[in-house]
Amino acid sequence: MANITLENVQKRFGEERVIHGVDIEINDGEFVILVGPSGCGKSTLLRMIAGLESISDGNVKIGGKVVNDMSPKARDIAMVFQSYALYPHMTVADNMGFSLKLSKAPKSEINQKVNAAAEILNLEPLLKRFPRELSGGQRQRVAMGRAIVRDPQVFLFDEPLSNLDAKLRVSMRTEIKELHQRLKTTTVYVTHDQIEAMTMADRIVVLHQGYVQQMGTPLELYDHPANLFVASFIGSPG
Ligand code: ADP
Ligand code: MG
Repeated sequence: MANITLENVQKRFGEERVIHGVDIEINDGEFVILVGPSGCGKSTLLRMIAGLESISDGNVKIGGKVVNDMSPKARDIAMVFQSYALYPHMTVADNMGFSLKLSKAPKSEINQKVNAAAEILNLEPLLKRFPRELSGGQRQRVAMGRAIVRDPQVFLFDEPLSNLDAKLRVSMRTEIKELHQRLKTTTVYVTHDQIEAMTMADRIVVLHQGYVQQMGTPLELYDHPANLFVASFIGSPG
């Protein structure tokens, strides 16, 4: 079970408090989107779940276990960023298999996992290409492929579509949702785009200045915004 619990999670950078006592419960298999304006603390919160940022106070639990002091590697998560830095000198297949190679998995296992991921993401015809020979959307799919070969308990996405043009962004939303339907991996997805949040999330967490304003389904937020901030943020055009 990969439910995620944040209990009174806080973050200070020096004197500055950027996350104030966040309590969130994410169910196993759920697709939760953290949304809010630039600088509200989305990436910081995600990085604390990933173990890439220390926690100033509170607890992060994955599968009921406190992971506060656990390294990112030990948390069984995979993260996909906005800047999908692929290794330019490696083929698509080698990019996707690289983390397994680092952990000394046998070649046959690496091939099998890379092929399975390529099938899911429609990357089979591209496995021998190099990143420079791919479109932006294809590169983003390779970045997702790198994450799914590891078969993690949790996916974390930080604005994965921000670098893509508007049309591609819309089709990639569908692809990511289909991926989630298929794998049912617990997912926390960060975006500043409220339309992305409304169309993709099982539940949305609205963050503003390091405080959770509301957590609920897209319909709940739309019908019963908790305050003026949520109402205007959800209602404003992308
Ligand atoms: P978002 O992802 O929502 O745009 P961030 O989590 O990146 O927001 O940042 C939240 C706040 O924390 C911002 O005010 C930012 O300047 C500050 N911040 C983020 N990382 C650091 C850091 N390493 N050192 C100091 N301040 C930081
Ligand atoms: Mg960010």
